Amino acid sequence: MRPENNLARLGHLSEDTEFFTPLPAGYEPGKTKYVIVVGTVMSGLGKGIFSSSLAKILQDKGLTVAPIKLEGYLNRDSGTLNPFRHGEVFVLDDGMECDMDLGTYERMLNKDLSRLNFATSGQILSSVLEKEREGRYLGRDVQMIPHVTGEVKLRLRELATAAEADVVFVEIGGTVGDVENAYFIEAVREMAFEEGPANFCFVALTYVVAPTALGEQKSKPAQLNLKLLNAAGIHPDIIACRASAPVGKKVREKIALFANVPMERVFSMHDCDSVYIIPEMLRGAGIDAAVIELLDLAEKADPAAEETARATWNAYITRYRGAQHTVNIGIIGKYTTVRDSYASIIHALEHAGAQLGANVHLEWVDSSDLNDDNVAEKLRGLHGVIVPGGFGVRGVDGKIACVRYVRENRIPYLGLCYGMQIAVIEFARHVCGMTAASSTEIEPDSPQPVIDLLPEQKKIEGLGGNMRLGGYDVVLTPGSLISELNGGAERIRLRFRHRYEVDPQYVSALQQRGLVFSGRSPDHPIMQVLELPRAQHPFFLATQAHPELTTRPLRPQPMFVGLVRAALRGIGIDAGATTSAETLPTARPNSITTASAPA
Ligand code: GLN
Repeated sequence: MRPENNLARLGHLSEDTEFFTPLPAGYEPGKTKYVIVVGTVMSGLGKGIFSSSLAKILQDKGLTVAPIKLEGYLNRDSGTLNPFRHGEVFVLDDGMECDMDLGTYERMLNKDLSRLNFATSGQILSSVLEKEREGRYLGRDVQMIPHVTGEVKLRLRELATAAEADVVFVEIGGTVGDVENAYFIEAVREMAFEEGPANFCFVALTYVVAPTALGEQKSKPAQLNLKLLNAAGIHPDIIACRASAPVGKKVREKIALFANVPMERVFSMHDCDSVYIIPEMLRGAGIDAAVIELLDLAEKADPAAEETARATWNAYITRYRGAQHTVNIGIIGKYTTVRDSYASIIHALEHAGAQLGANVHLEWVDSSDLNDDNVAEKLRGLHGVIVPGGFGVRGVDGKIACVRYVRENRIPYLGLCYGMQIAVIEFARHVCGMTAASSTEIEPDSPQPVIDLLPEQKKIEGLGGNMRLGGYDVVLTPGSLISELNGGAERIRLRFRHRYEVDPQYVSALQQRGLVFSGRSPDHPIMQVLELPRAQHPFFLATQAHPELTTRPLRPQPMFVGLVRAALRGIGIDAGATTSAETLPTARPNSITTASAPA
């Protein structure tokens, strides 16, 4: 029997009640349960990693889970955010530009997400303002409560309905006490009451400090901040304590006492060497069991499904942990001081390394420091090189010098988006003799603009949400390197985020001198993958797409597998034939030295 809820007693949209609880068509109260994850003390605790790991261990039990991230900022999406400040912009298949946490959810849950899984204050407020103009508030003054909170609740229930979810995981950005998140907290407080008992579970992530001068863990900041949550009318059911070292019993006891949460639901979540270990850590601590009990989900859980999912995942961890060989891969970019700007690339290399039994050591090279004279010295010791996506002029000359060096010296190369455009400019200049070749992004008046704005971009003004965004099909040339990497596929799907492309009028000149365009758009003359023939170069591959966005631990992205395999070959290790990631043997264990522990 479903637990009782209070929805029937609340008004939906009427002139004579103070309640406002719009429900999407087809919403079944009590069908979907909600887990709300909030942060206290400070941001950057790895809420997304925690929330996605928790969602994963419930998904492993055969439950349908759907995550949503609520962002307090007023931007409508993350597309206009600077990766220096906010980390990489993650792009979903439907073109939504969102927070990097969505990448964490996709990788953990092995599932494509959509714009339903991401809401910002900008979206929520725009929607309310549009509805006001349409006269949909029946003459009422439109208020933060109940109309804006009503919009938040509507978004959560729309996701529940569309995903037919057993459990919706709601991650509220920032921390309790932030002004911009206050109405999200208020919305979930109201909604917990509406949905009734056993349908809502609140998980608070907190932080346990350990000042070096004291040499011990202290719980006071955690206690005080959990009180803020109580003041907002929310009593946590579960508390996860982040810390660098395992959180001791005494500290957890204090937190349990001050927050009125039973000791068995106050868990330690300390740093570890790979985020993919966290699901097992949470399971070991019993957090999955606590959620199942609180939400009365025992009947839906499938232990056999869980066992299979767990074994597959743990096989990945085993491969990841037992490195046999180390390769050095250089990432030549301008955001090298902020690793979050390249989060998906780091994951793609970890996944590829795990596939091949390689310990991938990352070297970060700032392209602004590179030139033809120092490039040999700066790239010394690298077994493979990536030029990642980027925008603007800074560091471009260094990237061109880098691509020339790796092309001429036969060092494995993977170009991602801007990295493909740079490869075209470099080839045009140094192989085709077009000495003035450039991109109009770099030189608007270039006499040889081999890279130019996409035709549809020429009409657009402003910067938000108007690039070529999201998933598109790519038709592959049979027998090409890219086709072989994808197991002989003729068509693959990749995600894009760009404004410029190879100008089609230069394609034949580039091809005549040996550049191969092996991946194209099925319906536009857009060059999407290029390569050099294998007789000329051991591995020279670049794409207009962002293949790093679709890598998964259990499905490593083939271009990254190809790069790591070529790098291994460079140090005399044969990691098998060039074939699709899915068909590769998964026997050899591995690890990666750049740890991506929750930060
Ligand atoms: N700046 C280039 C463009 O807009 C490349 C974009 C990217 O690397 N994401 O086309």
